[in-house]
Amino acid sequence: MEELRHCPASPADLYGDIYALDGKNPYVRELPEPDVYILTTGGHRIPAHSGILASASPVLENIIDSPPRKHQNSGKLIPMLGVPCDAVAAFIRFIYSSRCREEEMEKYDIHLLALGHVYSVPQLKQRCIRVLGERLTLENAVDLLQLSRLCNAPDLHIRCMKLLSNTNFKALQQTEGWKFLQDHDPHLELQVLKFIDECESRKKRTRRYREERRLYEQLSEAMSCLEHIYTEGCTGVSPVDAADQPAASRKRGSCAHFTTCHALQQLIRHLAGCRKREKGGCSRCKRMWQLLRLHSFICDQPEAYPCRVPLCRQFKLRAQQERRKDDGMWKLLARKVVSAKAMTSISQTQAKRKRSLEKSRESSGGSDDLYRIRTRRQSFLKFD
Ligand SMILES: [Zn+2]
Ligand SMILES: [Zn+2]
Ligand SMILES: [Zn+2]
Repeated sequence: MEELRHCPASPADLYGDIYALDGKNPYVRELPEPDVYILTTGGHRIPAHSGILASASPVLENIIDSPPRKHQNSGKLIPMLGVPCDAVAAFIRFIYSSRCREEEMEKYDIHLLALGHVYSVPQLKQRCIRVLGERLTLENAVDLLQLSRLCNAPDLHIRCMKLLSNTNFKALQQTEGWKFLQDHDPHLELQVLKFIDECESRKKRTRRYREERRLYEQLSEAMSCLEHIYTEGCTGVSPVDAADQPAASRKRGSCAHFTTCHALQQLIRHLAGCRKREKGGCSRCKRMWQLLRLHSFICDQPEAYPCRVPLCRQFKLRAQQERRKDDGMWKLLARKVVSAKAMTSISQTQAKRKRSLEKSRESSGGSDDLYRIRTRRQSFLKFD
């Protein structure tokens, strides 16, 4: 008869978590004699109960239910090879108690993830993924990336990919993991390089989008100021609440966008007095000219109430009569400026609503519960 060699982890130690509960857990005493053995690396055998293993893992259930092999007379033998014996012991302990000791998790996290995946124990797998995600570094990222692919752990996979893509590529190339990947897994190397490339392109697109949006917002502000200058007659530019601002100007509530208004007024004055005007104007003149033209594409003032912005009507008429090649481009620009204005207005309204909500929370004595009760009562009253 084959000699039974037990794992350094004794059965008492193995079910230690359960035995520790002895006296509190009435089911412990009902545990029958072990009827299966887990064969680990080095020929160690860990005794276990088929019913408990089968209830925790559908894969183990299949193995247990499969017909016994020939010459198998000392209980069913389930091999769990390729990982340290203590990792298998920790795995079996998790099956018995749904718990895992910190030191075991620290030492055998990778092995436990593999066991949790192979034997379909999702709770253990999730815990390992969380722990490994917390321990992710540049040094182990490539190893964990390979492991996450083998163990079908997409959360960990994407975490590793993100870390690799946010790292200096030269530093990544110096790691042992990357060198190993280049020599042994060119497919995964290509996948990582593609991901890094996509991230870079996405960052560039986002940057470009933000820059464009900022430009459209600035143009939208300039358009508002232009109307404000010519309809409200703002000429003595100064901040809204400046004490030295003329009383009439303050009354009009002028210059919400002081800097833009000021710059525009300087451009307007320049356009009126530029010496190069007759030769087609300088770059500043051209900029002002473009702003006036853009206004004409945005302006929806009805004819009954003529727009006061200079050249607005002339530009509109010319656009109708001449149909220039670049009209399409101006229309597109005008649409983008208008939508930037709408977006700014929406985000300002949201910010205002948020501020007033926070204010009313503060005034309710900082008590969230009281605030919630009040709000609920108010909405309830609305239905009365
Ligand atoms: Zn102004
Ligand atoms: Zn000029
Ligand atoms: Zn106009």
